[in-house]
Amino acid sequence: MAITYKKCLKCGSKNSVSIVYGMPSYEAYQEAEAGKFKLGGCVLSLGDPEYACKDCDHEWNREQAIDYAYSKIKVIKASVGGYFGGYYEVTIDLRNFETTWNFHEGELEETSKKSIRRSTAESFLEALKILNLLNWKARYIETGVCDGTQWSVEILTDGRSIKKYGDNKYPFEWELFCRLIRKIINRKFE
Ligand SMILES: [Zn+2]
Repeated sequence: MAITYKKCLKCGSKNSVSIVYGMPSYEAYQEAEAGKFKLGGCVLSLGDPEYACKDCDHEWNREQAIDYAYSKIKVIKASVGGYFGGYYEVTIDLRNFETTWNFHEGELEETSKKSIRRSTAESFLEALKILNLLNWKARYIETGVCDGTQWSVEILTDGRSIKKYGDNKYPFEWELFCRLIRKIINRKFE
């Protein structure tokens, strides 16, 4: 799932238009009148809205849409491993400030739970934003490799679950993501 910038942050409507800045041409003025987009001021300043909802008049910009999308994340579940070397599974509950870490290898199973501070959960979310997690593709698959390493990330929001999965192939940010998980859990995850 990619972030849907054009969805209204207030009412959820997708009936929105872009806000266009600068001196409009006559044609642009007519199109704006027809409701195809909305005219902003002459100059776009930092923090100005870029989208306007036609249903509730709310206005917002891309940065606010990104913040909003990440603020909806309740739980992150991630796993990595393979047939050889075992599997690691983690759950990071950002609403209850709890983490769970599991390691499985054959008959062996280890578990550890710990609570985290609110500030840790907040900086974790900020880091996910930098790692562009919500814009990762749903599948990363390298064909022709037997066994090897599989990974998954599940992002739970209110009423939604977004799943990402990989088989011997990774998003560009994967190593940094693993490092972030190790830092918050304080256990192995690789
Ligand atoms: Zn709206």
